Amino acid sequence: MKIIMLGAPGAGKGTQAKLIADKYGIPHISTGDIFRANIKNGTALGMEAKSYMDQGLLVPDELTVKILLDRVAQEDCKKGYVLDGFPRTIPQAEVLDQELVKLHDQIDHAIDVDVPDENIIRRMGGRRACVSCGATYHIEYIKPHKEGICDECGQELVLRDDDKPETVGKRLDVYHEQTQPLIDFYDRKGILKTVDGTQDMQDVFDAIVAILEQ
Ligand code: ADP
Ligand code: ADP
Ligand code: ZN
Repeated sequence: MKIIMLGAPGAGKGTQAKLIADKYGIPHISTGDIFRANIKNGTALGMEAKSYMDQGLLVPDELTVKILLDRVAQEDCKKGYVLDGFPRTIPQAEVLDQELVKLHDQIDHAIDVDVPDENIIRRMGGRRACVSCGATYHIEYIKPHKEGICDECGQELVLRDDDKPETVGKRLDVYHEQTQPLIDFYDRKGILKTVDGTQDMQDVFDAIVAILEQ
């Protein structure tokens, strides 16, 4: 099962991708998490990605595509995967398609987690991310058991630099310009499914499971 999560930054793609990955035993692949791990480890790739991420801009396609293709070529991806935050541009989607065609393979579902911009601002402002494992929480909506501490690994939760209000507006503009056109792209391929992302986390997940199992 190969799944793409679409939706604005902060729509809940990562939260749902993790639930899907756990339920179906497939890897959750987030290009944002891969970039953040590289930043944390001080790699050249991390430094380059950071210069774009801090401005709320997309990392260039060439760099992003290479990382993603390397990741999906790994053994654990044979049984499927859920992509979270990739593709984010039409050229990225086209390269992914071409690679899959070579393997006589295809994406099964593109799931758009639909959340209006007004809700997005509140979600990103309240998001807290684990410095170690990338799990995300929300200060009002999805609280960890112990404030400021990750349930999964016990490490510290932080406000991401790019979730500060000055960057959020830019990221939403970039989303509308460069990423939203992917909704039509996958609709034309007949694999687009839309879920109402303003519902509670569990209700969104139930709607997704219903799509995957219909
Ligand atoms: P969010 O979950 O809020 O949408 P991500 O963790 O997916 O954020 O991405 C954080 C940042 O990493 C993006 O704003 C962008 O700079 C960069 N990034 C992640 N995925 C991609 C991608 N597929 N193409 C280009 N840039 C990306
Ligand atoms: P994305 O990966 O699309 O950027 P996240 O999954 O990180 O989004 O979610 C953004 C923020 O909203 C996080 O703080 C997360 O805990 C919270 N969140 C996710 N899903 C919901 C939901 N259904 N209702 C309320 N808050 C949510
Ligand atoms: Zn953690």
